[in-house]
Amino acid sequence: MARLLLIEDDLTIRTPLVRALRERGHAVAAAATAMTGLRDALDDRPDLVVLDLGLPDLDGRELLRMLRAVSTVPVIVATARDDEREIVRVLDAGADDYVVKPFTAAQLDARVRAVLRRGPGGPTGEDPTVVVGGLRIDPRSRQVSLDGEPVELTPREFDLLRHLATRVGEVVTKRELLTEVWQIPYGGADKTVDVHLSWLRRKLGESAQQPRYLHTVRGVGVRLVSPEVGG
Ligand code: CA
Repeated sequence: MARLLLIEDDLTIRTPLVRALRERGHAVAAAATAMTGLRDALDDRPDLVVLDLGLPDLDGRELLRMLRAVSTVPVIVATARDDEREIVRVLDAGADDYVVKPFTAAQLDARVRAVLRRGPGGPTGEDPTVVVGGLRIDPRSRQVSLDGEPVELTPREFDLLRHLATRVGEVVTKRELLTEVWQIPYGGADKTVDVHLSWLRRKLGESAQQPRYLHTVRGVGVRLVSPEVGG
């Protein structure tokens, strides 16, 4: 049995699929829009997400990108067309597998089991922990340590640090952080990012004036670097 989240707006697909997957022993939750799906994926931590690409509020590929920035949950994408370029794109964007509509519950169930058999970290079982200098960020346990000492972060601070850790050494704009970490694509206030960055800095024992890991690039954004590399 797995805990599945099905993100699908089409009721004529969603209802029978939820029923069929439950009959196969899975615990299934469903979301009809991208934003509720994203929220449920982060709040409920399902074992696997089945994601429809054609959603009313946001393109499914965009949702996949946002989800991948903050979560390693396995994702199977349901595409309407057997379009090789599209399939390559979603696999490159971090999908674990795909099904082409129309598909049967039996086929989806087999793919769910195959993806889950690979276990966390993909087929090689590689460790997703990111190490930057003395900083260790483990996205699976959502734990952070600095020079061997645990650092207690709020979920938002963790997500912020984790996103910066996917782009070590690069300047990440506040706009991108608002989109990827806060899921506020437009009109968010940079101040939100500044406030959380200052809290994160304090917990890492540094300040904007004397940065070690988190370097502000004025007017552009922020980048995470190892103190040995310097900024
Ligand atoms: Ca759809």
